[in-house]
Amino acid sequence: MAIDITVDHAVATLTDGTQLRTPFWRIDSDRDGHHLAMLAAQHGNEVQGIEVARRFADLCAEQLVAGTVTLVPYANLLAIRHRRHSSDLGPEQPGRESQGFNMQQAWPGDPDGNDIERVVYALDAKVIAHSDRLVDMHCWNHFWAAAVLARSDNGVAVQMAEATDLPFVMWRNSPAPEADIATSSHLMYSRGGVSMAIELSGQYQMREAEVDRGLRAMANVAKVLDMIPGEPEIIDGPMLEPLAGNDVVVEAPCSGIFMQSGLEPGQRVVQGLKLGHIVRDDDLETVVVRSPACGRLWKYGRHDMKCDVRLPDQHPYASEGDMLALIVQACGPERE
Ligand SMILES: [Zn+2]
Repeated sequence: MAIDITVDHAVATLTDGTQLRTPFWRIDSDRDGHHLAMLAAQHGNEVQGIEVARRFADLCAEQLVAGTVTLVPYANLLAIRHRRHSSDLGPEQPGRESQGFNMQQAWPGDPDGNDIERVVYALDAKVIAHSDRLVDMHCWNHFWAAAVLARSDNGVAVQMAEATDLPFVMWRNSPAPEADIATSSHLMYSRGGVSMAIELSGQYQMREAEVDRGLRAMANVAKVLDMIPGEPEIIDGPMLEPLAGNDVVVEAPCSGIFMQSGLEPGQRVVQGLKLGHIVRDDDLETVVVRSPACGRLWKYGRHDMKCDVRLPDQHPYASEGDMLALIVQACGPERE
């Protein structure tokens, strides 16, 4: 028999005296076990985790055998309704320009602080403070493949990260002990819990393949935490690690429009595979661009730093030397 999915709210009183009610789902097996929390959309343009949470709630209602699951799909309603990374940002402003409204930097919040600090405080009181495992689900730009970010110095974190079966893993060290608590992950660790972050591929959009990837990651994490039965379903492994000395940059050999060849970030490539072509803007020749290595596409498509907020930074016109792809090399079993 399915377990009931209940809806509750974390209620914050904002600076103007109005209340912001952040809804969340809770599924309780009524048996001992971990309390797994998931935050989606701490940044208002990173929304794919919302649908992941919805599907994971249904899955837990059918399959949860131990512990409790709390899912906050709309963690940052102020930023989501503003349709930007943070609620104080205007056009073409990246998240780092937020003046104290970046939710990810606001933990554990403050009931007398600014509106985001108040929302965070309410979320901590209702959700995070009761949990011992946390998945913080974000999305980065659609030129980059999905990845899990986790601490390599914590055995449980390693186990959870490896179960996600995402294309890439980025291992982190623990922050210095004197560092201020700022992220929900830091907060979870400071209380003896374990946390990790997932970055799905694509902001301002909902993509079936990414939502499916996120759902499999959540289900696999719940399995290694013995909350739902079965072994993790690993269908895309092994994960590769960017920035570990195996990165190969593919640069534009000439200037012109780069036409991708229908691959997706995260996909495996073999040496010589066609990544796309450039239509030269001087003699109109077609110049094919091939993969110099076997591995996985970590970044794919011409883009610049602010591609998450500036349309020109997503423009497919490449100048000679622009990065068209970044491949994390893998040899041996990765070779196809
Ligand atoms: Zn984010």
